[in-house]
Amino acid sequence: MKETLGSLRSALGEQSSYDAASQCSRCGYCLEDCPTYLATGQESFSGRGRNQIVRMLLEGKISKPEDAEEALSTCLLCGACTAACYARIPTADIVLEGRRMLPGNPSLPAVILTKLLARHPALFRKLLKIAYALKRSGLPRLLRPLLGLLGLGALAEAESAVPEPPRNFLRETLALPPDAGKPGWIYFAACGPDYLFPEIGLATVSLLDRGKGPGAFLRNGCCGLFSYNYGRIEDARFLARRNIEALERSGGEANLVVDCSSCASFLKSYPGLFPPDSPWRSRAERFQSRVRDILEILPDLELSGEDAARKPAPIVYHESCRARNGEGLAPPSALLRRMAGESFRGLPESDVCCGGAGLFAFRHPDLSDAILRRKIAHIAESGAEIVLTSSTSCLVQLARGLSKYYPQARVMHLSIYAAEASARTHGSQTGS
Ligand code: SF4
Ligand code: SF4
Repeated sequence: MKETLGSLRSALGEQSSYDAASQCSRCGYCLEDCPTYLATGQESFSGRGRNQIVRMLLEGKISKPEDAEEALSTCLLCGACTAACYARIPTADIVLEGRRMLPGNPSLPAVILTKLLARHPALFRKLLKIAYALKRSGLPRLLRPLLGLLGLGALAEAESAVPEPPRNFLRETLALPPDAGKPGWIYFAACGPDYLFPEIGLATVSLLDRGKGPGAFLRNGCCGLFSYNYGRIEDARFLARRNIEALERSGGEANLVVDCSSCASFLKSYPGLFPPDSPWRSRAERFQSRVRDILEILPDLELSGEDAARKPAPIVYHESCRARNGEGLAPPSALLRRMAGESFRGLPESDVCCGGAGLFAFRHPDLSDAILRRKIAHIAESGAEIVLTSSTSCLVQLARGLSKYYPQARVMHLSIYAAEASARTHGSQTGS
């Protein structure tokens, strides 16, 4: 049986998926904000078109549901349509409900990956270590043409997009006391910083330590976003319950700090996973109220800025869709002006998706690349040498795009920039 939520939380309250989709008046006000519509000009690749397709699916008016696959699988789930919509129609959630009804969903690779992440994380970590060792051996690079010939180009792309793999995962490196005493803050190790970019987590923790005093490390699992997006709602609920219990077990009422905006946004959406009459709904609401994206924390830390005499490299900021449209967070412009002075420049369309969106870039490489090229062209126009952002998916996608189309710039997580800039200033002030 297909797993669907059945009802969605929206600006208009709790609604059935059908009512939410039917609420779309087809005004088209969101069209120009939808990256896939802008890239293709096709109605079925817009928020309006996708809402109609899901409504017709639910009405049983699409005789071959697989015909809806292309329109629904190409949605980036970026939420730009909802932000532009006067009624705040939750199109991304409606699209996900539609995807869950399609034959062949979830796919076998998604089932395997989400099972490993949710139910067997220790085995997942072991397999990832083996994959990283293989990558270091250079074998996957040699196999890339073969994967392409076998129609597994997406796998080859995914392998090439992974940067130099870390030898140790973040949770193996962090020296924080787990769940100890009454910490001033609690760090949630999201999968991106944990498995791909441990240096992000280390930078975040050092900033928190300096700015807020001692903290702790939650014994968390994956946030569940991957399971949720790929049709495994029960696995997403399992992970949510586990993370809620872990935070409840930790001492005090400290905030839970997350340095990947995709995960922060999903952790904040936990209440929507549980029916209103479930005791887990209220526990999820308490959990949600304690989650803080690092974007919300950094501006309050007294971080020292770059030394203006150093003439720091020009920087721009790319907004993660999840931070902007999921959490409603503005870019940390005041902080960046304080830290980088005149080196901080505006980026046209900084709020438009980069085309990363988890596995989207590997499933729809041409569409993803069209969206990415537009983003990189804006970065090149700005003359930036450093692009800052706050989500792992954006980091991977922008690194790929910059190395291909504008190698003069590199992408960096906001925490790393803030930690390095303030360490340099601190060092120059103390003469070290
Ligand atoms: S979520 Fe993004 S890609 Fe999907 S319909 Fe809305 S604007 Fe378009
Ligand atoms: S999603 Fe909202 S803005 Fe877009 S067509 Fe429907 S009602 Fe209009």
